[in-house]
Parts: sequence; structure tokens; C-alpha cells
Amino acid sequence: MSNHANRTGKAGGLYARRPDIFPRAVDGFYRRLKWAVMAATLAVYYVTPWIRWDRGPYAPNQAVLVDLANRRFYFFAIEIWPHEFYYVAGLLVMAGIGLFLLTATVGRAWCGYACPQTVWTDLFLHIERMIDGDRNAQMRLRNAPLSVTKVAKRVSKHSAWLAVGVLTGGAWIFYFADAPTLLRAFVTGTAAPVAYSTVALLTATTYVFGGWMREQVCIYMCPWPRIQSAMLDERSLIVTYKDWRGEPRSHGIKRTEGVPTGDCIDCNACVQVCPTGIDIRNGPQLACITCALCIDACDDMMARIGRPRGLIDYATFEDCEEERKGAPPVPIRRTILRSRTFLYFGGWAAIGIAMAIMLGARTRLDLSVGQERNPLYVQLSDGSVRNAYTVKVRNMETRPRPVRISIEGLPGALVWDSLSEESTAAQSLTLTVAPDQVERRRLYVRAPRTGPQPADFRFRVTALDPQGGGDDDAARFDRPETLR
Ligand code: SF4
Ligand code: SF4
Repeated sequence: MSNHANRTGKAGGLYARRPDIFPRAVDGFYRRLKWAVMAATLAVYYVTPWIRWDRGPYAPNQAVLVDLANRRFYFFAIEIWPHEFYYVAGLLVMAGIGLFLLTATVGRAWCGYACPQTVWTDLFLHIERMIDGDRNAQMRLRNAPLSVTKVAKRVSKHSAWLAVGVLTGGAWIFYFADAPTLLRAFVTGTAAPVAYSTVALLTATTYVFGGWMREQVCIYMCPWPRIQSAMLDERSLIVTYKDWRGEPRSHGIKRTEGVPTGDCIDCNACVQVCPTGIDIRNGPQLACITCALCIDACDDMMARIGRPRGLIDYATFEDCEEERKGAPPVPIRRTILRSRTFLYFGGWAAIGIAMAIMLGARTRLDLSVGQERNPLYVQLSDGSVRNAYTVKVRNMETRPRPVRISIEGLPGALVWDSLSEESTAAQSLTLTVAPDQVERRRLYVRAPRTGPQPADFRFRVTALDPQGGGDDDAARFDRPETLR
């Protein structure tokens, strides 16, 4: 019996009604692996915003925080400013290459085990089984007339799904503000409207995607299966039915009857457990998310009839061809250790190492300078020239920092700011930048009109605090016309 209990799509039409799929519960190695991955991924998602990380009195103590209001991204000891967004871009590139690497080594393992759509759909299916029962009970309930029991089960199931949706959306907003503070505000009705609308939106999408659309998201909405078909090669692992071993199916024929049959007894267990409702015996398909539950179901059946496991198994196309000719199964390391996976791993690791080095070496002080254009310069009565600049000093530490701004490469130049008198002009200027802030000052530079002047000069900012370790930054500036 097909897992598609009710397919009514018109042949050749553009629309096919979603078939009802009632995946049967199964136990086995891959099912347990999926439970473990589900527990780990859900724990990471729900717990992460509640982890605290002490950054001192001037910065939030939430370990992972996307602080949109102050334009910062905190990840444990790392703080990313908007001008350092290339680190986030680097992480996204690493995630992309990591996905290629995973696909080249273990096929669509991401889809089958760790993709949020898979994890949440699995969770919704589990809730459905707890309330409605397993596959057969669900089918009976679907066909049963309306009754108090049926209504109670339906209400319970959809309420539980909606509760998961609320928790999912609720957890998401805690990544964008201090979690305990936001939770208090949320339950007392004083949080920002965007918090409520985000939770409402994510509740709806989780409920619809996990409860109603399920495999339709993988088959019709997600681009990854299409990209993947271009990425798989003859040495990529996929879930395969070994037809040379399974065919012809016995389907009730006893081995003692003398009719030549394969190992497949046509029990349909592999189809009944499939969350996307396909029959893997028809060959590799786009709808197969490689969750391997059919392997567990078939291994269980093989154990019962006393045949070796692996009639449905992870295998590569190349391995299948060799096994078909009678060669022994190929070790999995051949799939993993090959030039393509080395290439992906090399690219992935190189970006990671480069980012780690850059993060370790980055200065926590940043200087930017812009020349005032109106007026471009002022020629003073003694022949010296005065120019004005807007200087921004960014202190990326979570403590106040005294800094010195000096002029390099412009002999005799003096500097002062708009908060002081010209009479206080000196070769450098000292100021304090608040923690995690940008200090903006208007500076004046006066240079004597004596002798030849260099082609350009530099502003240099140097941290003066003992912990600063000589942190500094410089901005090269073209010599103004008038200083020639
Ligand atoms: S065919 Fe097997 S591996 Fe593929 S989605 Fe169905 S149960 Fe999972
Ligand atoms: S579970 Fe195994 S034996 Fe049963 S139908 Fe599927 S392939 Fe055949």
C-alpha cells in the first residue's frame, strides 16, 4: 500500500493535491542518530540566548546577541562592529563551503538530519503520534466520523503545534535583545510591537511549515535539492536500494517454493516510514532527503527474515556498480578521502584560519578623518596655513580609553580641537573615548609656511591606557594644496 493514502492530482495537470502522508514510527541506528541531532539542535536554538558572558559594565552580558539598536553583533568573546561585517560574510561563505563539503562526503545529510525544516517537522510528527497514535491509528482517525474524541484529538494536536510555534518564535526574538529583560516585557505586554509581530509571524510559519506543508517545503520550495543534484557525483553517498540483491521481490512467495526471488519481501515498510512518502526502490529521487529511516525499517525486516542488513543502505553510485558485479562493499573512507573533499576542506579551513588570524590581530581602536571643505583652508597673517578636519575615533573596547592624536610627517604642525583655544595648540592632543563608542571631534591643524613640505601626512591615534598595549591606528591624508 502506498504511503500516499489519497492522491487525487489530475494526470498531466499543473496541480496535484498534497497526498496525506502518515509516516510510521521506526527504531534503529539512524532514527536514534536523528533523535540525538534533534535534541542537540533544538537545545542550541532554545538555550543559546540565555547563556551569559561577562563583558564588563559597559557591554551586554548575553553571549550571543544581535544588538540592532547599537549595531553590534556579540558572539561570546567576539564583538563585530558594522564596519567589520566582512567577518559575517566570511562565516556565511564558510557555511556555504561547509554545506558543499558535507554534500560531497555524506550526501544530503544536512537535509535529512539538521535542516530546521526537517527538525521541526520531525518534532511535529512526534507530537502527532503522541496524540493520534501511529500510522494506522492516524489513518483510522482521518476516516472516522466526527466525534468528541476526534475533535478533542484535533484540538489537542493543533494546540500543541501552535505552542511549539510560539516557543519557536519566542526564542528567536531573544537573540535580538537581553533575553530576561525582553521576556519580562513580553509577558507584561510592554515589549515593542515588532517583538509581538515577529513571534506571531514565526508562530504562523512554524505551524504551517511543520504541521501542514512538511515535505512540500523540501520538494517544491527549497532550492537546495536542485542545487544538490548538480553537486552529487558518482562518489557521493546517497540512500540506495540494491535492486540486484532485492529483485525480484518475493511478495508472499516462500523461499521453499523454489521460485527464484531476491531479498525484498515487498513488505512496504521502507515506504511507510518515509517522511516524504516516496518509494526508494524506484531509484534516487529529488524528494529523498536522505534521512535513512527506510534503512532502519529494511534492516529490521532483514533481521526478522534472517538476511544480511543493507538491502537499502548508504552507498555511492560507483560502489553500487562494483557491488552489482559481485565486489565486496567499499569502505566509506573512499567517499570521504578524495580530491574533491580535500579541495572543499582546504577552502573552508583557509577562510577559517584567515578570519581567526585577522580577529586575533585586529586593532580595537579605529580612526577616520575627513577634511572640512568649507573653507578649504585659512591663510593666517604670519603665512602659516590652518585646515580643519572631522576626526572620528572608534573605541571598540568595553572600557573608557584615553588616546593621543598626533600628526606625523608635517614638521612644525600643531593641533587643537574645537573644544579648546588655539593658544593650547600642541604637537598632539589627548582625549578620552567612551567605551564602545565613537568620539567625533573637529580638529584644526596649523602648519608653518617654511621650507619644502611633504606630499602627505598622517593622523595617528594611540591608546594610552596600560591595557591598551600600544593599540593604535593611523589615517593617511593628502597634503592640502595650501600647504605646498
Ligand atoms: S526514501 Fe528513505 S532516506 Fe529518502 S526520505 Fe524516504 S525514508 Fe528518508
Ligand atoms: S523494507 Fe526492505 S524488504 Fe520491505 S519492501 Fe522495503 S526494501 Fe523490500
